[in-house]
Amino acid sequence: MKWSLKTTVLTGCTLAITILATVSGLSYWNTIRLVETSQDLVEKHKVISEIQELIALIELIKNQQERYIVTADKNYFYGYQEKYILIQKQLDYIQKITQDNPSHQNRISILKSLIDDQINLIETSMNIRITDGLEPAFRFIQTGENQVVNEKISQLINQLQAEENQLLKQRTNATISTTKKIISAIIMSSILAVGLVSLAGFMLYQDVKKRRDIEEKLRTSEAQFSGIVDLAQDAIISFNQQQEIILFNRGAEHLFGYFAEEVIGQPFEMLLPPSYQKIYHQNITDFADSTKATHRTGKEWGEIEGFRKNGTEFPAEASISKLEVNHQQVFTVMLRDISHKKQAEKALEETNQKLSGWVGELERYNRDLKQISVMSDLLQACVTVEEAYQVITGSLKRLFPNTSGGVFMMNESRHLVEAVVIWENPESQRLFTAHECWALRRGKRHLVVDINTDLLCQHLTSASSFLPVEYACIPMMAQGEAIGILHLSSHRKGQLVQTHKALAETVAEHIALALGNLKLREKLQTQNIRDPLTGLFNRRYLEESLAREIYYAERKQKCLGIVMLDVDHFKKFNDNYGHEAGDLLLQELGNFLQSSIRKSDIACRYGGEEFLLMLPETNLETTQQRAEILREGVKTINLYYHRQPLERISISVGVAIFPEHGLTREAVVRAADTALYRAKNEGRDRVMIADETKQSE
Ligand code: GH3
Ligand code: MG
Ligand code: MG
Repeated sequence: MKWSLKTTVLTGCTLAITILATVSGLSYWNTIRLVETSQDLVEKHKVISEIQELIALIELIKNQQERYIVTADKNYFYGYQEKYILIQKQLDYIQKITQDNPSHQNRISILKSLIDDQINLIETSMNIRITDGLEPAFRFIQTGENQVVNEKISQLINQLQAEENQLLKQRTNATISTTKKIISAIIMSSILAVGLVSLAGFMLYQDVKKRRDIEEKLRTSEAQFSGIVDLAQDAIISFNQQQEIILFNRGAEHLFGYFAEEVIGQPFEMLLPPSYQKIYHQNITDFADSTKATHRTGKEWGEIEGFRKNGTEFPAEASISKLEVNHQQVFTVMLRDISHKKQAEKALEETNQKLSGWVGELERYNRDLKQISVMSDLLQACVTVEEAYQVITGSLKRLFPNTSGGVFMMNESRHLVEAVVIWENPESQRLFTAHECWALRRGKRHLVVDINTDLLCQHLTSASSFLPVEYACIPMMAQGEAIGILHLSSHRKGQLVQTHKALAETVAEHIALALGNLKLREKLQTQNIRDPLTGLFNRRYLEESLAREIYYAERKQKCLGIVMLDVDHFKKFNDNYGHEAGDLLLQELGNFLQSSIRKSDIACRYGGEEFLLMLPETNLETTQQRAEILREGVKTINLYYHRQPLERISISVGVAIFPEHGLTREAVVRAADTALYRAKNEGRDRVMIADETKQSE
């Protein structure tokens, strides 16, 4: 069984007290006994002293007897009687004080009678002195009777004295023995009590030492705790059940701008923004009631708002813990300022938004680039500007959704501007002069974002009373000069500026480049394949296209009609009216031929005043008929030169058919040429069919 310190000390002390009480009792009892023994001893001494006094009195009587006998002085005679009374009294007294001793009583009774006998003997001796004189008296005294009585008296008194002395000795020894035992007991008990008290004291000392150690450890721990609490960057605040602040570390001072002395004892709520105090108060109350645990409990409090001394608020991450000390709840809140974290999060969010914006823009940009690339590819493949216009219309609709607009091209004279591509019906005139557009005037983009303040182009203001919210005219530049504009208009504010501005410029560049190239190509091609005087295809083109047409005819198993014609006596015409008039005639003949043939037919100037027509999928009969019609038609051409009518002309025609008159390009042309030659030879102004016999040549 392990006793607690309290029980051990109490038991030890109780035992010690009991022992000490017993010792005290013993001492008291011993003292009483000693007192009693002392009284007894005193009595014994008194008895002895009384006996000695008795002896003295008896001796005195005997002495007076002897002196009276010697001197016969009467004073001695009378004196003994007094002494005798005294002796008797003395004996009575001794008898009285030795009542508890029966042997003494007996002896004293005997002694009384002996003394009476002695007194009688003395009186007898004295009477003898008076009557008989000295000598008889002396003899009487020395008689045996006297001696015997005296002897007996002495013996008895000695016995009394000896017994009393014996008793005194016995009592004294007993007292000494008892006292020794008691002293031993007292010493032993005292040692035991001292031992017990020492043990209790030692245990108390051990306990106190232990407590001191614990207190020291506690102090060290507290110092460490305070150190940690003070060193902590976070705010650590403790408050009691009444929500009064009881701990406010340096971190908290730093965070809230209060000194600890200012807030200790103040309500915790003062550290929260007024608008949140009620919620937090409820929160803390709920937390306090949440668990009845006596152990520490804690929880994340999440993000809360802190309220500084200077009235500013800050976001903080908080956790709260609860500790029950002496039936009192103590709450500790740890707060960490997360302003920087929040700012970083916000910055990150902004960056993310920016990034996603950029990604969106990039995606749109990519999409636009792809669209532009597709448009450019398609434009590259276009042979004519008309084809290009179709491509541009489709592309611009996709590139600029929610807008309307158009591509406006300048004419050859660079004076008029005409819409060639239009989508969503823009509020602009379709045909206007270059001066009516600020972009064309200045050769720079003209962007209108506020129609009330910005300078507006006339091609818009004169078109309709409705105006777009914003619009842009972007000049399309090719080979250093404007060839037209890309016009965009929007009824949504900010759309052109934010999304389409840069794109519009790029698109305008691409369109300008493509259209410029196409126009240039067309021009070059025309120069290359057309005869500049008549506008008909030239001989080079003829050779190319004849080969192609023969290939098609061969593949489709169809005929190809070849008509070769030559102006009759043209030299003479030239001679008559001049070369210029000759040119005029050739020009007019070219127009006539072009207008007389089908779209699929091809008319070429073969050389000088000689022309060749290719009529795909046309047999000999039809070709001949068509040749005849032409021969007749030529005669209807009326020409005036310097208001002077020119004479009408005739033509000679040779007709050949692929594959009837030749299986190759050269053969069929030669066949037609031969037929023409024959027509000339046979008188001109006629149509001759190629000779079939020549086919194999
Ligand atoms: P024929 O009936 O036999 O064909 O006689 P012709 O005079 O028409 O034939 P010829 O070959 O003798 O003369 C052709 C003339 O055509 C010679 C030339 O001066 C003229 N000529 C050729 N090319 C042109 C041209 O481009 N312009 C003009 N004005 N005359 C041309
Ligand atoms: Mg001729
Ligand atoms: Mg000729």
